[in-house]
Amino acid sequence: MMNRRDFLGKAGIAAAGVAAMPVLASCSGEPRLPLGDIKESYSADLLVVGGGPSGVCAAIAAARKGAKVLLVDSGNCLGGMGTKGLVGPFMTCYDAEGENMIIRGLFEEVVDRLVAEGGAIHPSKIRQGTEFTAWISEGHDHCTPFDPEILKKVYDRMCAEAGVKVLFNSSFVAPIMKGRKIQGAVLLTPSGLEAARARLVIDATGNGTVAHSAGAPCVFGDPESGRVQPASLFFRINNVDTYRLIADVVPHLPEFRRVNGVSYRCLHWRGAEAEAAGEWDLARKSVNIWRSVEKDQWVVNCTRIHGVDATDCENLSAAEVEGRRQVEELMHFFHKYVPGCEVATLMGTGSVMGIRESRHVLGDFVLPVSDLIDGVIPDDNIVLSANSIDVHGAMGGPAGGLYMPIKKSMYGVPYRCLIPKDVEGLLLAGRCISADSPAAGAIRVMPPAMAIGQAAGIAAALCLSTGATPSTLSYSDLRPALLEQKVFLG
Ligand SMILES: Cc1cc2nc3c(=O)[nH]c(=O)nc-3n(C[C@H](O)[C@H](O)[C@H](O)COP(=O)(O)OP(=O)(O)OC[C@H]3O[C@@H](n4cnc5c(N)ncnc54)[C@H](O)[C@@H]3O)c2cc1C
Repeated sequence: MMNRRDFLGKAGIAAAGVAAMPVLASCSGEPRLPLGDIKESYSADLLVVGGGPSGVCAAIAAARKGAKVLLVDSGNCLGGMGTKGLVGPFMTCYDAEGENMIIRGLFEEVVDRLVAEGGAIHPSKIRQGTEFTAWISEGHDHCTPFDPEILKKVYDRMCAEAGVKVLFNSSFVAPIMKGRKIQGAVLLTPSGLEAARARLVIDATGNGTVAHSAGAPCVFGDPESGRVQPASLFFRINNVDTYRLIADVVPHLPEFRRVNGVSYRCLHWRGAEAEAAGEWDLARKSVNIWRSVEKDQWVVNCTRIHGVDATDCENLSAAEVEGRRQVEELMHFFHKYVPGCEVATLMGTGSVMGIRESRHVLGDFVLPVSDLIDGVIPDDNIVLSANSIDVHGAMGGPAGGLYMPIKKSMYGVPYRCLIPKDVEGLLLAGRCISADSPAAGAIRVMPPAMAIGQAAGIAAALCLSTGATPSTLSYSDLRPALLEQKVFLG
């Protein structure tokens, strides 16, 4: 059997005979396979890889500005972590005072469509410290509970209306490179290996897979501590007697506390009972359980798996199994220890592991967390957000997290963070943008990820129509285009 090194070695020799032809590049930028072997099935102005919250918004924004857009995702639906991963609710889209909705544009449109279909509760109606925020207060005002099945339909329709061509079950395999310029990608689709040509590409894979394969420098997790935020497999339950559950929690609210980074919040008293009986071996001390749109449905964010490398197949596979084991333990916990959850039903676990952190792609500018804390609004601002800095696992130990409130009402995200070093024709969107590890801990959540995606899509469309490149695009052109698509910039 050929191992990975043999494969790369042999493929490099094959490519040497077709030097004039664009080639697929390996991570190090060395030629791997000649493109001539693969059918070129698609061509577009813009290829968006990854149909999560950032990729969907990038694709719709660009298509609305007239670009011919191809959006590919390895799964069978749009929405990424918010649908396949069952992650929710949308974190806050308001300023730090909870007074004004500051993430608008496509995010607001998605929310309005969800609300109209009974698939979300508008964030204006959701206040911190309630069952909709797992009774968490700091940084959790005006979250948006939503139904992931309705979200899938909303994204499908919005893409169709904008004229985005969507390919599901289609995984990015390798970039098509000419020198440093990316010109498309090879995909593994149900039809086999197929090439998609594009004038520009957006990496919205979460893991920065496209940028990394095209030769952009990346760091993994927090290079200083050598840590990556823990992963969590989300799950949803129903058949909950919500009144009895709330009645169990509310008297304990004054006991909610954080000790050395460890949160003792929802149901920590029930967790302690289970621990005393030898029936709790989970890393967390409390259960983040969020009421969803339907009264008896709750979203559970409590599993925790440390040291998961989402770019390593074996490591990730083992984590998926461990995630499901923890879900089983938690279902036992709910049935035995939690009033109102005696007959709760497991509706489903995420079909993908929840990955908070993996690669951060490096641009010339790396957004430092200090800029978020200090409320810096950069000259090339594309997004306003007030999501707090929430770095799970940062204090070391199994349960501790680092929570840093911001000092101002909001902060901005510079356009520069969307431009990777060393690769041309590529923009970044979502979780993988050029930010340090704690800064990424704040802007990775879905509302800012969607706004960043929208900005990436608009920037791409402007590059296509003006002949600019992502790095030469002028902010004086970008800003009015953002405002035209109802992005709020203050
Ligand atoms: C455990 C956990 C809890 C969270 N809690 C919340 C929360 O409560 N509220 C909130 O707002 N946010 C939350 N987040 C953050 C949020 O869900 C993600 O950070 C956000 O979805 C990132 O968006 P994205 O578009 O960058 O990536 P993703 O949502 O990860 O989407 C990436 C998409 O790219 C696709 N893809 C990846 N690789 C390839 C490839 N090679 N080829 C083709 N397609 C590919 C994937 O299938 C996926 O659909 C949480 C995240 C985690 C992991």
